[in-house]
This record gives sequence, structure tokens and C-alpha cells, in this order.
Amino acid sequence: MKFSFLIHPLTNETKGLMQLDKSRMLLANWGSNILRFCLDLHRATEAMQEEAAISDNAQVRLVDELAKLASPTGAQADGRLYEIPMDARSILDNPEQAIQYMEQAVDDAAKWGARVVGLGSMTGIVGGQGEHLAQRGPVAVTTGNSLTVYAALQSLLTACAETDIDLRREAVAVVGVPGSIATAAARWLAPRCRNLLLVGRRVSPRASRLAAELTAELLVDIPPALAGARLVVSATSTGNCIEPASLRPGSVVIDVGVPTDLIPPIAPRDDVLLLSGGLAYVPVTMPRDSMFLGFYQGVIPCCLGETMVLALEERAECFSLGRDLDLDSIEEIGDLARKHGFDFSQLFSFGQKLESSALARFRKATVRRRPEYSHNGTNGRFHDHFQTNGRVPPDVSLPPSLTTAQLADRASQLHERYINPILVGLGRNNGFIKTFVRGLGNELWDADGKAYLDFVAGFGSLNLGHNHPAVVRAVRAALEEQAPGFTQSAINPLAATLAEQLVALAPPGLEMVFFANSGTEAVEAALKLARAATGRPGLLSCERSFHGKSLGSLSVTGNPVYHRPFGPLLPECQSIPFGDLEALERALYMRRFAAFIVEPIQGEGGMIVAPAGYLRAAQELCRTSDTLLIVDEVQTGLGRTGTLFAVDEEGVEPDILTLAKSLGGGLVPLGAMLCRRDLWMKAYGSARTFALHTTTFGGGSLACAAGLATLRVLREEDLCANARARGLQLQHAIGDLAGRCHLVRCVRGRGLMLGLEFRPMPDTMVAHFKGTDPSGSISLLVPNLDELIHSIPGLYAMQILLQTHGIYTQVARSNPRVLRIQPPLAITEEQVSRFLSALENTCHELQFLNESVDSTIRKSIGTHQGGARVVG
Ligand code: PLP
Repeated sequence: MKFSFLIHPLTNETKGLMQLDKSRMLLANWGSNILRFCLDLHRATEAMQEEAAISDNAQVRLVDELAKLASPTGAQADGRLYEIPMDARSILDNPEQAIQYMEQAVDDAAKWGARVVGLGSMTGIVGGQGEHLAQRGPVAVTTGNSLTVYAALQSLLTACAETDIDLRREAVAVVGVPGSIATAAARWLAPRCRNLLLVGRRVSPRASRLAAELTAELLVDIPPALAGARLVVSATSTGNCIEPASLRPGSVVIDVGVPTDLIPPIAPRDDVLLLSGGLAYVPVTMPRDSMFLGFYQGVIPCCLGETMVLALEERAECFSLGRDLDLDSIEEIGDLARKHGFDFSQLFSFGQKLESSALARFRKATVRRRPEYSHNGTNGRFHDHFQTNGRVPPDVSLPPSLTTAQLADRASQLHERYINPILVGLGRNNGFIKTFVRGLGNELWDADGKAYLDFVAGFGSLNLGHNHPAVVRAVRAALEEQAPGFTQSAINPLAATLAEQLVALAPPGLEMVFFANSGTEAVEAALKLARAATGRPGLLSCERSFHGKSLGSLSVTGNPVYHRPFGPLLPECQSIPFGDLEALERALYMRRFAAFIVEPIQGEGGMIVAPAGYLRAAQELCRTSDTLLIVDEVQTGLGRTGTLFAVDEEGVEPDILTLAKSLGGGLVPLGAMLCRRDLWMKAYGSARTFALHTTTFGGGSLACAAGLATLRVLREEDLCANARARGLQLQHAIGDLAGRCHLVRCVRGRGLMLGLEFRPMPDTMVAHFKGTDPSGSISLLVPNLDELIHSIPGLYAMQILLQTHGIYTQVARSNPRVLRIQPPLAITEEQVSRFLSALENTCHELQFLNESVDSTIRKSIGTHQGGARVVG
């Protein structure tokens, strides 16, 4: 259906500006900033404006076409924007003249075929808020005010949710009664907030009736309203009435006024949120490049939105007319707009998307002012303000605790804002990054209740699966017994017992235990002990190794990408190829290393297993050169490879062994370094040195209770045996798959620490990807572009397994051609079969895709380019 919409320049200056800006460069460059720019301009030239007259040759003009607007439902509409040649002030000063122009615009629209006409800004005020034009005909009209109210209230609700404001406990000031938008907003808010303060220019009978109906206070002055309520919805027709400096800290203003009700120029303040109300994003199916002011980049005023919705719905009927808007109709148009894909979830400020950091700054500024967070409880200005006004401070406690599932709604947004915007951004368009709300055994659940088989198992932290009942029971029991939290320089029975059990299970020679909270801390403890016990500074490690990301363990981690921005790292560190005994012998010859640190299977490096006999021979070489052997079993330990420790496979006896990940049973962080008694004594065996290396949380009760339960479960459920059996099932089947599917190069690993390596992408495809960037600028931005291109099959596999088959996997970070296969150790035969059939489908799909793309590129190279650029 066809629709039209009437607009007018906000000010004479804007009008001139828009006419001058024929090339549209100004708007293109400024984007929606132009709104702010125009408002400032308006204020700066207020005096000039008084004298501005309507020029003689002024006429209604068609300013934009909104052709073929499609909603995701398939509905379509075509629109035209007509501008009347009067600015806001002259419309109010000379409504008769404005109405003549509006009639002319409506007639033009009707001639074109429009069946509903929306009235933008002031055109929706004069002529009895659309009543006059509705009676005159010949087409239906709407002020669009219902959807404007809906959007403004949605913004208020979103702002409250984002800032932990409980609307029910708040006073709200509604400025602009008895205007239609303010009146409707007040009626909707009255039962939903603590109390309402209505503000009108004068005490009119209408405003008084409204105040009586809503049992609200009616004020004619804005400052007392701003002092009494920190939530403000403002929708006047005159604009420029709220002085931002007078807003109290913690205020949220939803400004629906055009021009704004907030008086410019506006000095930036972190402790108030100034939001534009009545805006929304058009559906993603609609073009976002119309040059209509405010429509730029998909943002529209909802008076236009309502007109579009009516056209999409084929409803050629008058909708929002007069001063009394119906609350049911407001909800109805809001629901219809959502059905057509209009998006009300975004907050706007001065017509632009609110920067995500603005919310973070606002929360910080207001939370830190709350009495319970200020240093002496009475110093904060927020508190003083209430004191001086003789009011009781509102309840400013943190939000009531919610379940994980309830918190999931905003989790991705909050993660993006506060934790890692890049991670969230990477997954935005492909559903790559999930929000999981529950885990039990071998499965995870997302917020929609969909279950996923977990083949990542916390990179080895969940050998027992999620929330193993025995570990939960043990932690619960420690809590119920009121086991001490952390007891420094004292004895904790749970820690002492766990140390005893670990030593009993560990390879011979390891007799002392240091408890930490993570893998990297266990490694730090190992490196420091080695230096202190040997008096040598050097540390030898392997290329492609991973030992953690704190500075010490990073220094022995063999991935230069992780090193780059953090140097200089520890001196005297050297790395040699993994599995190369000659290189090890050569390196140890000079006897300058305190220790050689090595993983039995390089997990992060791509599930690379040490060659048979390597660790035993390494032990011998270390012994002959008085170098300590540190075996890092943070990931391989506790049953992962089919034996309790991976070194048990060959009976290796390290001098130092590190553990973490699954030691806390998948519930509580816990790491440990085990070492020989004589080494410990050398490093820490005196009254002067016994406390040289400690950590506050090491050996806490909950962690050790979980650790004890973990060891018991590993034994009672014979998880090592299951890891071996399921590992063989996987290795055989994937080995077969590699024979049938060229894309799969091999499978390797041991037990349930496995990796599937994909073949590199064909040269044609690498050349093609690079060919799409002849300037080479992508290569500059992404230095390891080749590697990234080669990792595409692994990343696709992850995505298909996740989205299509409900199986959660990850690639090895330091070797993304390798898909990690690392489920919890209790994974069943049936679950493994399910994974294998999903993997088979996924690999064949990828193989097919690769072959088709490759042959298409080959053909196009053959016909158009005459030869591929082969990239190594
Ligand atoms: N060592 C190894 C072998 C690891 O695999 C890891 C982590 O993946 C670490 C150390 C570091 O552990 P965390 O991430 O707990 O610091």
C-alpha cells in the first residue's frame, strides 16, 4: 500500500541547509549528527530566527521516495515524504498557513495514490492533532503518536533494565501534559511507578483532570519535578525546557520533543542518561540509506514508523488522532511494528545509537555514589541531595538475584560491553558464540532450552562433566559444615588430606604439594621452584607449547603470537622442537637450564603426541645434565589420556608435575604443583624461606573438597578405562573417515585428548581469497592471513556441528586447522556415535563445498585470468 508522510524543516536554518545541501554530501558526512548540529545552530541563531519570514515562492515539495519497503513478513509498502515550507516555530505562530500547506501535501499524496498520510512533528499538532485533515479527507491520516509513545516507553523500560532501576519504586516526571504523547505516557506509567509528577505550562482544566484521574501531583515548574523524580519523560511541543545541568545525578530523561526538550548546548555528564524517545530501527529488510533526516542508517522517528506499519498492514484508516490516545491501540501498533521487524531495543541519544560505554559510565557514576558504596556513607552528593531535600533515600540496593537463565537475556550485550566486544562481534552474524545457561554431565543448554553435547569440556577442565553430583555434594557438605573459607598460615584439614592423596597417586618421587588456583599459577610455582632449587636462571621449553599466559609461564609458551605485545619476557628462556631428542641433548649440554618444561601431548599446539619413548629419554637427558624435568599435566592429567597421569603411560618420573583444570571437579578453580621433597627443601626449607611463594586462595576449603571428590569419582567410575575405550572408538572411526574424505588429514592424540587435522585449503582458493584484496591491505591488517584462510574448514566444521547437530566443539587456538575432540570422560558409546555421524556429514558437506568452489575458481581462472597465482 502507498503512504505519505509530512515533514518540515526543524528551523529555518535547517530548511536552508537542506536546500543548500543538494549534493547531500553534508548529510552523508554528518549522518544523524546533523540533528545535533542543527539544534545547536538553531540556538545560536535564535535571534535571527525571530525575523525569519516565509518566502513568497515557498511551496510543498516531494523530498524523498521510500520505494518498496519490505517487512520480514513479506508485506510491502511504498512511501513519499513531502515537506511543507515552514519551520517548527512558524507553524505554531501561523497554524492556518501551515494547514493550507498540509492540505496541499495531502492532496498531492492522494493524487499519487497514497491511502494513509502520516503527520510529522508540528504537522501532527496543528489542526487538532490530525482531526481536521481526517475529517477533510480524501485519505486517512495519523499523527503516528501511538507508536511514538510506545517507543518512548520501551526506551524507558530498556534504560531501567540496563541500569538496574526498578520502575515500581521510582517517581516519574512527565513533562508536556496535557499533550497527547505526555498524557498517554502518564496514563501508562501511573500504575507502574511509585508516583507521578505531571508538568504542564499552566494549570489547565484538562491537565487538572488528568492529575486527579491518576492521583498525580501537577506542577507548572520543571525544577521541582526534576528534584522529585529522576526518571523523566518529556514531550512538549515547544521544546527547550529542561536545563540538563539541573538534573540530579542518576537521572534518566526520555526526550520525545522535536526540537529537543533538553536545552542545548549540553555539557557532557556521565551521571545522567539523556535519551531520545520515539525512535526505532527499521526492519533489516528495509534499505537503510534514505537520506531523510533521522532515517539515516535505519533510525526513524516512530510517527513515520506508525504510518509505515499501517501501510504494511494495508490499513487505510485514521489511527492516532486528537489528544486522547488509547492505551490498547498503543500496545496494538507496537505489537504490529514488532511483527514487521521494527526494533525498539536500542537506546538513542540525540538521534544516534547510544554508545555502549555511556551506559557503563552512567552505571559507574551512579553506583559509586550510592551511600553503601561511598567511603563514609554520607559523603556522596547523591545522598546529600536527598538529605537537603528532606526526602528518604530510595532503596538503592543492587538488583535482586536472578537465575542464570534470567540473566541470559542481556548476557551477550553485557559481555560485549564489559568483557570482550570482539568475541561477541565475531559470533554476531553466525551464531558462533553461544550463551549457555546450564550444564549437566556431558551436555550444555542454551537460553532457548536447546541441548548441546559438550565436546570441549572446558579444554580439559570438565573430565567429570558438568556439575557432577558427587562433587556438588562434597562442596555442599563443606558449606553446610561451615568449613573455613581461607586460613592463612594455619592448617586446613581438607587441603592436607588432598595433598596426601595426590602424592599417593602421583608418580614416584613427587612428595610435596603447592596449591594454586589455575594452570598458569601451578606452572609459575614450578618455574620459581626450579630456579630457586638449582640456582640456574635458564628455562628450556618446546616450540608450539602452551603453559599459560601469566608472564613467567608465557615466557615458556611456544607461540610467538601470544608473546608479541608483552615483551620483554623472562630472560634466559629457549625453545626447541617438540619431540626432538637431539635438540634437547644439544640444549642441555651447557647445563645452564634450571628445568626443561614439557607437555606429554601438546593440546593448544594441535593435539601433538610426543613420539614414543621421548619423555623417558628426556628424563634421562635431564638427569645427566642436572636439569629438572617439569611435566605440565594441567590438561593431560586426571584421566584425560586414559591413564591417571599421561606420564604413567611410559612410567616417566618427573621432578616437578603441574595439575589444574579438572582437579577442581569442574566446579571450583584449583591447581597444584607437585615436586620432589629435596627440591622443596632447597627452595623453601628454612624459617626464612618457607613462605617465599604463597597465594591467598591456594588450598581453600571448597576447592579441596571438590578435589577430593574428583579423585574419588575418577576411581569409582573408572573414567580412565572409559577414556581409553571411547578414545579408540573415535580414533578408529575418524581414521576410516580420513580414508573416505580427502579433507580430513588425520586424527591423533590419546584417550579423549584427540584432534582432527583438516588438510590445508587448495592453493586456488587461497589465491582467490587473496585476489579479492589486490591492495594487500587485508594482509597488513591480518598478518597471518594464510593461516586464517587455512583454518576455514575447522571453523566451518565447528559452526555446522554447533548449529546443525547441537555439538559444541572448538579448534586448537595455536593450530586452528585442528578440531579438538575432548569430551568429558564419561561420554557414552552412543554419544560418541552421534558425534561421529554428525562429523561424517559435516566433513562431506565441507568437502563438497570445497570441491565446488575450487572447480568454479579454476574455471574462472581458466577463462578470465589465464592462470592461478599459487600461494604456498
Ligand atoms: N598448561 C597447560 C598444558 C595448559 O593446557 C594450560 C591451559 O590450557 C595451562 C597450562 C594454563 O592453565 P590456565 O588457563 O588455568 O592458567
